[in-house]
Amino acid sequence: MGRYDRVPIQEQTREERVEKFALIDDAYSKQEAVLEAQRCLQCAMPYCVQGCPISQDARGYNILISQEDFDGAARLTLRDNPLSTVLCKTCYHFCEDDCIMGGKGVPIAIRHLKRAALDYGKSDLLYIPTKRKEERIAVVGAGPAGLMAAWDLAVRGHPVTVFETEPNLGGQVNTIPRYHLEAEDLNTDLARWKNLDIKFVVGRRAGADFTPKDLLKEGYEAVLVSVGASKARELAVPGEHLPGVYHALPFLLRINMGPPGVFGRTDRRVVVIGAGDVALDAARSARRLTGGGDVQLVYRRGPEDMKATVEEKEGGQLEGIQFVFYRSPKRILGTERVEGLVVERTEHGPPDAKGRRTLVVVPNSEETIPCDTVIIAVGEVADLEGFEKEYGFKIASMGWPEGKHDDCMTDVEGVFATGGRSVVHAMAAGERAAAGIDAYLAKKHGRAPEPRPDPFGGSEVPTLPPGYETPTWTP
Ligand SMILES: Cc1cc2nc3c(=O)[nH]c(=O)nc-3n(C[C@H](O)[C@H](O)[C@H](O)COP(=O)(O)OP(=O)(O)OC[C@H]3O[C@@H](n4cnc5c(N)ncnc54)[C@H](O)[C@@H]3O)c2cc1C
Repeated sequence: MGRYDRVPIQEQTREERVEKFALIDDAYSKQEAVLEAQRCLQCAMPYCVQGCPISQDARGYNILISQEDFDGAARLTLRDNPLSTVLCKTCYHFCEDDCIMGGKGVPIAIRHLKRAALDYGKSDLLYIPTKRKEERIAVVGAGPAGLMAAWDLAVRGHPVTVFETEPNLGGQVNTIPRYHLEAEDLNTDLARWKNLDIKFVVGRRAGADFTPKDLLKEGYEAVLVSVGASKARELAVPGEHLPGVYHALPFLLRINMGPPGVFGRTDRRVVVIGAGDVALDAARSARRLTGGGDVQLVYRRGPEDMKATVEEKEGGQLEGIQFVFYRSPKRILGTERVEGLVVERTEHGPPDAKGRRTLVVVPNSEETIPCDTVIIAVGEVADLEGFEKEYGFKIASMGWPEGKHDDCMTDVEGVFATGGRSVVHAMAAGERAAAGIDAYLAKKHGRAPEPRPDPFGGSEVPTLPPGYETPTWTP
């Protein structure tokens, strides 16, 4: 193995994968991690850091791991990333896409090295609250954007209350299948937040139980709306409401959070509609639920247009998903339950006025794909029911609401909004909104804005008491 080859990661075989929802990737051993970190060129201009939405110092923790200083690497990782345990298994590793080693060989396995830092270094550290500020802040929505903003603002000394409609924190992280992320990982991260002044209130829905403007009236000086895009986009074809039709997000959430036995039986024939990461996760989960059964993924365009990451596509192929391209769903057949999916063939038509490829339906090309289960994964939209129009939210292309201004503020003074297309992008968005809120409050109260302090206080860091478990939150 030369410098340009990655120290291999052990992965489950196809047979092992479809048997159960267990992590696909093994962790590096200590020795493997050191060898992999020693491949890092320690670039003077670290593109990996620039490529990371939250500017994690990957070069820094690679150096420390290469010197077998796993404690230092864990502390450096956790300093800027309060959801490190989640990200070391789920991040789409934009840092690796920019790693200079990728030009000649295989990029450094930065995400796996982050995991090694936490596995072998002292990672049960506690964040230290800094000098308290008096302005209370509310965050609406406890996905990665809201959590990151709450953490950042609490580290700056603000008391924060997070309102969440679901019984659990984490937002869409709770739908990420267990072959990518384990059940306890988010709580491992949140346990380190124990000493921060963050109160979680679950089971409260903005738009129904209160509005952001109500929170301002109650004395919160700023409100961040980080509600994501959590409502399934409908396919809008006949038969969509038949038993046997699922939407991907509630389907994946149920697999993770129970009750068990989503399909009732294991011999289902499943069709998934969509071609993004969520569609692939639904299809790969269906393969596991059916013990390696018949799972087809139907997409109206070709493979080159699929939005899913290479990792998801290759994972789906290896696990035996059948890809059916250039088929557009027309209706779902059935009376008491799904009996099939009627599709029409599609093909590329002439370019439109802007030169983009168009897609046309081939006349008289209907065919039926026999199946008894259909999972719809064609995207999500924000659910803004009950929110006043005057916030003037900008809706991102993937559906979540944002503030129109650079600091994420909406048209209502003191109300901010943000979200993101991956866990780390959402965290970066939360970090940006927190900086915007802090600067807004600093100006309002005649303070100079300050950068976020070191969340470990720059000194010896306390650790979690033995046996401490993250509390579960009740309404
Ligand atoms: C199946 C699946 C797999 C994914 N896998 C990965 C992956 O492997 N890696 C990766 O980086 N990204 C992945 N993502 C994407 C990632 O999870 C999202 O980009 C990220 O969670 C978005 O964060 P957010 O905080 O903007 O929104 P969300 O995570 O959607 O959080 C919004 C929160 O607001 C709450 N909320 C909504 N409305 C209200 C209201 N009115 N009042 C109060 N609370 C409200 C919601 O319940 C939710 O908790 C995946 C997404 C899905 C669906």
